[in-house]
Amino acid sequence: MTAASLLRAAPDAVATAARRVMARCEELARVSADTASIERVYLSPEHARVNRLAAEWMRELGMRTWQDAAGNQVGRIGDPAAPALMLGSHLDTVLDAGRYDGIAGVLIALEVVRLLRVPSGDDGWTVPLPFAIEVVAFSDEEGTRFGKALLGSSAVAGTWNDAWWDLADADGVSLRRAFLEFGLDPGRVGEAARRPDELVGYLEAHIEQGPELDRAGEPLAVVSSIASARRFQLVVEGEARHAGGTPYDMRRDALLGASEAALAVERICSAEHHIVGTVGRFEAFPGAVNVIPGEVQFSLDLRGEFDGERDRVWDALARDLDDIMGRRGLRWRAREVHSAAAVFCAPLLQDVVAGGIRATLPTRSEAPPVIFSRAGHDGMALGAIADVGMLFLRNPDGVSHHPDEAVSAGDVAHGIRALAEAVLLRGTEPA
Ligand SMILES: [Zn+2]
Repeated sequence: MTAASLLRAAPDAVATAARRVMARCEELARVSADTASIERVYLSPEHARVNRLAAEWMRELGMRTWQDAAGNQVGRIGDPAAPALMLGSHLDTVLDAGRYDGIAGVLIALEVVRLLRVPSGDDGWTVPLPFAIEVVAFSDEEGTRFGKALLGSSAVAGTWNDAWWDLADADGVSLRRAFLEFGLDPGRVGEAARRPDELVGYLEAHIEQGPELDRAGEPLAVVSSIASARRFQLVVEGEARHAGGTPYDMRRDALLGASEAALAVERICSAEHHIVGTVGRFEAFPGAVNVIPGEVQFSLDLRGEFDGERDRVWDALARDLDDIMGRRGLRWRAREVHSAAAVFCAPLLQDVVAGGIRATLPTRSEAPPVIFSRAGHDGMALGAIADVGMLFLRNPDGVSHHPDEAVSAGDVAHGIRALAEAVLLRGTEPA
């Protein structure tokens, strides 16, 4: 029996697998630094505990396991000499997190291994594929602790930056010290890096973190690309003066200028189809009830499917800010604090994900939805060394990074089936 026919013969196995994913998401949610909410950050005791659990689940499937030099938990099954198709996602969380962001993707990957594995003779298991399968539970995707996202996957991609060692958490603990306290050697982080020739590609299942699939009534989508993002810290300067004594024609109110700027972000971004801009932090100084604000500092997060479109929106916004501030007698400046280019999913992996989704649909001729990811993912880092493909699962109401984050067991079952079929389809192409 081939792996493909094994999979088709096993609808009950897929439903059982989905129930196991849901139960394990609950189990992992209990591994938290906070009893009232979910909080699991990089290099914490909770990180170590979920790695041990994941390793146990990997070994139970007959996988060889190791924790790499950056604290990522890895399991491998199949020909030891073959390159690997990497599956996975992350187990770290934001503060007051949901149960499924990242976590569901790791657990779905494990169930795919369970569905595809076959006995290998000497008591072991293998996968009947021209490549091995590795499941990676990335250790830091969210960047919650050190303010820098994708630390785990950057180590695997070999793009670790030594400037990060001095990043500190809220308690002043440096990344270097946290490594040592976790039992990792900062000097060996390079050993986590993988070579492009070791990998066939990287495939990740993830909840959408937005409402598009829910609105469309679709359980799954092919991801076309992961958004490009730029973040800025902006400052508007006016003049702080007495709130009573200063007539309107003499006011240079930085808050009113910055407020117009925030509205300009909404106006300009919403006119573009594939751009979203958010002012998430906004602070007025000196911040007294009887003083006209002399300075406002605010953040801008700009995301788009295409780098060029995103940059044009920033240019248009900058022209608008010149107008607004000029009219109000204010000055403004911006400092770019983050920039990441869009990562496009490889056409071949988009095709196999689409084929995998079609296998879950009543009529296989239907074309599954294709959407771009507005959120960042480990694939952004992995893109440096491997073809990347992603599968999105419907996220009711699009609530994510919140305790109410959800996904249904039925959709998880579709996701497991689609990812397993995608892996089999990838196996029919040259490694
Ligand atoms: Zn995530």
